[in-house]
Amino acid sequence: MKSGNLLKVILVLLVAAAIFALGQYAGMTGRTVQLTNVAAAGQAGAPERAAAPVTDPAGTAPHRYAYYPGTEELGKEEIRLIALGTGMPLARRSQAATCWLVELGNGDKFLFDIGTGSNANLNALMIPFDFTKKIFLTHLHTDHWGDLPGLWAGGWTAGRTSALEIWGPTGAREDMGTKYAIENFLKAYNWDNMTRLANLPSAPGKINVHEFDFKGENQVVYEENGVIIRSWPAIHAGDGAVSYALYWKGLKVVIGGDSMPNTWYTQYALDADVAIHEAFLTPEQLWRLYNQAPATAIGVGTYVHTPPQAFGKIMSTIRPRLAIAYHFFNEADTVLEVGEYIRETYDGPLTLAEDNLVWNITRDEINVRTVISPDEAWSVAGPVAPPPPDRTVPDQLSKWSLDHRWDISDVSAKMVQEFKAKHNLK
Ligand SMILES: [Zn+2]
Ligand SMILES: [Zn+2]
Repeated sequence: MKSGNLLKVILVLLVAAAIFALGQYAGMTGRTVQLTNVAAAGQAGAPERAAAPVTDPAGTAPHRYAYYPGTEELGKEEIRLIALGTGMPLARRSQAATCWLVELGNGDKFLFDIGTGSNANLNALMIPFDFTKKIFLTHLHTDHWGDLPGLWAGGWTAGRTSALEIWGPTGAREDMGTKYAIENFLKAYNWDNMTRLANLPSAPGKINVHEFDFKGENQVVYEENGVIIRSWPAIHAGDGAVSYALYWKGLKVVIGGDSMPNTWYTQYALDADVAIHEAFLTPEQLWRLYNQAPATAIGVGTYVHTPPQAFGKIMSTIRPRLAIAYHFFNEADTVLEVGEYIRETYDGPLTLAEDNLVWNITRDEINVRTVISPDEAWSVAGPVAPPPPDRTVPDQLSKWSLDHRWDISDVSAKMVQEFKAKHNLK
C-alpha cells in the first residue's frame, strides 16, 4: 500500500471513530440517531463533497459531513433527496410536517407533499421558485399539504413567473379529491388571490391540477424528460391516499405517504433504491406525549398508521438499499424506542428521518448528511425575470377606503423618484 493510501485509510478510520463517538453522544442527547448502515459520508470511495477538502501537511481529509445548498452539482446519474418535513400534524420549529424534495442530475426537481411548516425549510435551500413548481400530493391531510398557502403566495410574491403544477389523487367522492381541494383552496383564499391579482403578475397565482385515479395500481402519472412517476393506492384513514415511486436512470425512490401496511406497497416498492415509509409513534408515546386518549392512540397508532415493528417487517420484505422511516417526532424521548422496535423486525440499512437530512443516491452508493441552510434566506433569481403586474382584476380598494387615505407621500417622494428613475418606471 502506498503511504498516501495508508494515510487515507488512517484518516478514514479516525473519522469513522469520530462519527461513532458523535453517534453515541447524539444517542444520549437524542438529537440525531440514525441507526444507519448506509455508507457514511467520508467512507473510502465516497465522492468529494461540499466546497474544498480539508488539507493538512499530513494529507487531505475526506469530504465534510454536511451539505451546503448551492455548492454541489449533481452527477449525471445522481439523485439528491432532501427531507424538508418528517414530523407530525402539530408541526414543530425543529420538525415540520411531511415534505420531500427530489432533485435529479438532469436538473428536474419534484416536491412530494408540502406539509405544515415545511415551506421554511424549502425556502432555506434558496432554489428559485420557478424550479419548485411540481408538487405531488400523497393525500389531503394538512400535514401533507398545509404549507401550500405559503409556497403558493410566498413564491408568487418572490419571483415565481408561472403556475404551480399539482398532481394528486381523486377521492372516493368528487368532494374528497385533489381537484376539489385545490379549487376550493383558491375560493377560501379568494381575498388573498384578488388582492394579489390587483398588484402582482397573474400567471404565478394560478394552480394547474393533474388529478389521477387513486385506485390506479402502479399507474404512470407523470412521464417527461426520462422521469417516470407511478402511483398506487395507500390505505390511510379514508380512500384516496396514494404512494409514489420515481424512476430515473435505473434508480427508484419510493415515497410512501401515509398508510397502514398494505400489499400494494410490498409489491410495487420492491427493488427500490430508497424506500420511504411511515413509522409512527407508539400508542404509548401518543398517549403520554401527544395527549391522545388511550382509545384514540391505539386506533391512530396501529390502524390509521404503521407502528414501528410493522415498518420493519415491510422493509424486511422489500429489502431496499436504504429504508427511511418518518412521521414520528424524532427526539430523545422517542427515537430509541422507535428504533428498537424497528430493529425487532428489520436489520437492513435505515435512517430514522428528521428534517434537513439529505441523501445522495447513485447506483454505487447512498450517503446521508445534514443540510446546513441559513435561517435568513432570500428568494433567488431564476433564469426568467419576473414580469410586471398585469392587473387582471381592478384595484380592490374602493373609493370609500381611498377617501380616507392620508396622503403623506411627500415623505417618501425622494426615494420613489430615485427608484423610478433607476428602473425607468413612469
Ligand atoms: Zn395522513
Ligand atoms: Zn401524515
